[in-house]
Amino acid sequence: MASWIDSSYPPTLTPEQEEYLLDNLKNWSIANGLAVRPTSAFVPEETDPSMSLATTAPVTLFPSPFPRKCFDMAKDLQVSYNELYAAISSDEAWLKDIVEEIIDVDDFVAKLWSIHLDVKEEGYVQDLTFGLFRSDYMVHSPTSSSNEPSSPPSIKQVEFNTISSSFGCLSSQVSLLHQHLHELPATPYPTSIKSASLPSNPTIPKLAQGLKEAHIAYGPSKSVPSLPLCIIILVQPKEHNIFDQYLLTNHIQNDKIPIFRLPFTTVLDHTKIPSSNPSRPLVYTPPHSPSTPYEVSVLYFRAGYAPSEYPDSTVWTARHHLERSAAIKCPSVLTQISGIKKVQQMLAIPHSVTSDSDPLTHFLPHTSSSDLSRIRSTFCAQYPLFPLDSPSAKEGRALALDSKTAPGFVLKPNREGGGNNIYGSDIPDFLKSIPEDQWKGYILMSLIEPPAEGMGVQNAVFRNGKVEKGEVIGELGVFGCCLWRQVSIGSNKSESANQGIIKGNFEAGYLLRTKGRGSSEGGVAAGFGSVDSCLLID
Ligand code: ADP
Ligand code: MG
Repeated sequence: MASWIDSSYPPTLTPEQEEYLLDNLKNWSIANGLAVRPTSAFVPEETDPSMSLATTAPVTLFPSPFPRKCFDMAKDLQVSYNELYAAISSDEAWLKDIVEEIIDVDDFVAKLWSIHLDVKEEGYVQDLTFGLFRSDYMVHSPTSSSNEPSSPPSIKQVEFNTISSSFGCLSSQVSLLHQHLHELPATPYPTSIKSASLPSNPTIPKLAQGLKEAHIAYGPSKSVPSLPLCIIILVQPKEHNIFDQYLLTNHIQNDKIPIFRLPFTTVLDHTKIPSSNPSRPLVYTPPHSPSTPYEVSVLYFRAGYAPSEYPDSTVWTARHHLERSAAIKCPSVLTQISGIKKVQQMLAIPHSVTSDSDPLTHFLPHTSSSDLSRIRSTFCAQYPLFPLDSPSAKEGRALALDSKTAPGFVLKPNREGGGNNIYGSDIPDFLKSIPEDQWKGYILMSLIEPPAEGMGVQNAVFRNGKVEKGEVIGELGVFGCCLWRQVSIGSNKSESANQGIIKGNFEAGYLLRTKGRGSSEGGVAAGFGSVDSCLLID
């Protein structure tokens, strides 16, 4: 058993104790927006055709033990990670090489890239970008043959999200829920839990602060005559995770900043860029109030990350329309592209095997070597499968195709949103089932090893009205806000200027998603996981 896991945690509850906790959990969660619209598997659509019902979001009954050192390190690194991705997004030439390698097998990235090229040709009118990022990690705790941990637990990065990073607000609330349950009179929570072990998690005010700073940085209206400014949150139709968004928009609204939800597919119906205005302000006319147009300061994408969200060419036209506007994008097309798995693999490639300089040192020239090593220590081994003559791709192919080595890996396409990966022993047959020239659309990543089965964290998950108990695996996400000025794509087209100038950069709270041991994926919205909080163990 790893030292940070206590086999007697969480306590076994009597039926009365469980009922007491659940009663409080169900009531507190609805009273405080720790909720989702129920899925059709829980409440059939015909029972709630207008989507009026809410239910508790999938949550754990107890906070899950998490090594404090790993938690602190993930939070400490976030500012450097923000800076890293601001720099990547600002280096068009570096991204171009990556995009050109996959463009013929990845229509989605190809279309995003062509939007960037079109807007670049016309000239960008907004050189500020806002990143609302989330860096996801799992605790790597490999086990020796005697089932003992073979090294202290460390964190390894699962992925870095540059678009639509969700669950920040529900994670703030679940931290408060667990604190509330801990403080109940005669609580069944163990008395050994100290308040200092339940870290505060102010994600809601911090994400709101990031958006507010971007809104202020936009400056005065560019419209003639000037218009009031607003933030737009671009959303998917029939969003079930609505309260996660609402907690944020509500906070921003309380700061007297107008913020509106706009379904991504209706952008062209409700926004315009006046052709007579070279500053290209994006004008939003709320359908419920056509006489009060607004100018959009910040476009916050909670949609637009998956190919299925672009069902026809008008949605691509809309994306192009948004990108060429003066609104600050969260994220810009280049920032969205920076989040593809191929970029993460390029960063992780040991530079000793390539003739190129180390991208980390290139992108973070002012970061100390000890901090660079700490970032590098969070990378899993990752391999390309292309081009054939590269030593790392040769190694990647050998590892992926061999049924003895494949179980230690996951194969990832350049997609977001969960449910896209191929795991372990399925990899060789999957690769053989697709044409070889498609392989360059995937990267191979070594699997992070949670504590061995039977030795891991135990918890109980409340989902769709039922409690499930068992061994769980946590995925820690750390949020970050970063605002930067992109020098090379603005009016100053100097080819050499490829570093962004950071205007604001801070860590913005955390998310712990917890899934049952048996599930490969951990997405809460995708139906695999639950929202949790950390019980820090020294
Ligand atoms: P997506 O962009 O679809 O969220 P991820 O890279 O986050 O893709 O992978 C989805 C899920 O797969 C993760 O939440 C995690 O549960 C699992 N996963 C991904 N990479 C690894 C890895 N290297 N080791 C173990 N599990 C992984
Ligand atoms: Mg993910």
